Amino acid sequence: MSWSFETDSEFQEQLNWIDTFTREEIEPLDLVFRGPGDPWDPDSPAAKAMAPLRAIVKEKRLWACHLGPELGGEGYGQVKLGLMNEILGRSRFGPSVFGCQAPDSGNAEILAHFGTPLQKEKYLQPLLDGKIASCYSMTEPQAGSDPAEFTCVATRDGDEWVINGEKWFASHARFSEFLLVMVVTDTEVPIHKGASIILVEKGTPGMDILRNSAVGPYVEQGDGVHGYIRFTDCRVPADNLLGEEGGGFLVAQTRLGGGRVHHAMRSVGVLKRAMDMMCERVVSRTTKGGLLADKQLTQEKIADNYTQILQYRLHVLYTAWLIDKYKEYNREVRKEIAAIKAATPKVLQDCIYRAMQVHGSIGVSDETPFMTMWANIPELGMVDGPTEVHKVTVARTVLRDYQPAPGLFPTYHTPTERARAMEKYGHYLD
Ligand SMILES: Cc1cc2nc3c(=O)[nH]c(=O)nc-3n(C[C@H](O)[C@H](O)[C@H](O)COP(=O)(O)OP(=O)(O)OC[C@H]3O[C@@H](n4cnc5c(N)ncnc54)[C@H](O)[C@@H]3O)c2cc1C
Repeated sequence: MSWSFETDSEFQEQLNWIDTFTREEIEPLDLVFRGPGDPWDPDSPAAKAMAPLRAIVKEKRLWACHLGPELGGEGYGQVKLGLMNEILGRSRFGPSVFGCQAPDSGNAEILAHFGTPLQKEKYLQPLLDGKIASCYSMTEPQAGSDPAEFTCVATRDGDEWVINGEKWFASHARFSEFLLVMVVTDTEVPIHKGASIILVEKGTPGMDILRNSAVGPYVEQGDGVHGYIRFTDCRVPADNLLGEEGGGFLVAQTRLGGGRVHHAMRSVGVLKRAMDMMCERVVSRTTKGGLLADKQLTQEKIADNYTQILQYRLHVLYTAWLIDKYKEYNREVRKEIAAIKAATPKVLQDCIYRAMQVHGSIGVSDETPFMTMWANIPELGMVDGPTEVHKVTVARTVLRDYQPAPGLFPTYHTPTERARAMEKYGHYLD
């Protein structure tokens, strides 16, 4: 029997170092580099500022350390990554400095699993080294949640695939060296058997970015990082197929599962930061002759935040533990990933709102980080699939373990159960 909530002292020391390094060296980047692509774009001025920090992280053997040694990591797994991401999530730059940023880390994982030796040589190493950016493009303008509606097709012509169709919200497409594009390769079978992932290099003729959307109103229109892409007779070598023809969803599952957990881990970091700010404020600010901290309605907010954040955090770490245990995205793991994915926007909405509220006007101003945190919440209910779809997954998986009652009344019908209990123990009443 092993069941523990403790972090071993050696790793705790590393976490302490990561915490100080994040606060002192990484968080200041957020205040200087505010462009929407800065943490990911290798040509951004932020990349130069990150380079020495990345070198320190590599020297400390903490770079992409969730990946196995064959991918240049330390094989730390998901629980340790979860504990690290709770700290890195405080900053937009944290994951990029530690080599675990989305979508590149997920793309590296599928390239490693499914890539040909040539694809790995050309793209995997530079991606793992943080020298290039990558894009995963699945959503289409007319369809996101329901892949059955996808229409972007690739047809085989000799030694090439010819891609036609459109993609939408392809994050980082404009500065990515390559895109992993989900395309329909067989229209005669259900989409889960008829879709494939094809690697398209930057600058391939026939691939045009029509525009770049941003999240929120603060970015100049057109300066966003989410590409609306059109493919017109875009030809790529047949070898650019990633995995099996028709196996696109098998490949996608490998990255989307991990990606969803990592969003949740980073959200714990955001929540902890909001909680720290909230607590500092209420023990600092006085009103009506006393500290805010002494008002019972404030205490209720503190208690609710504490409890909700702890529950969410433990659920995220439990899910990470399950992934480490099973080493695959089986049914049990997928259920928990869907559950925490669905829980994420709600816990952020509740807890950041309370933390912001106790700050009064400064909380909603541009002089504290709350409004930035607040503006990021809705995208977490959408990215990697909307909350509703994940709730459906949770409910369906839970209900698979239940059978209908055999008769008219439920199996827990009290009169029936009591009659059975009386048969067993009733004689003691005589
Ligand atoms: C910041 C950000 C980054 C993204 N990055 C990428 C990327 O890099 N690559 C990529 O391919 N995609 C990306 N996406 C797209 C994302 O995957 C889609 O937005 C998501 O899958 C939903 O698709 P949709 O936007 O077409 O919404 P729709 O599918 O139109 O859904 C709209 C709404 O309909 C409701 N709904 C949908 N299905 C159901 C259902 N079964 N039951 C009940 N209600 C339902 C929900 O309320 C949902 O929010 C990104 C999105 C965001 C916001």
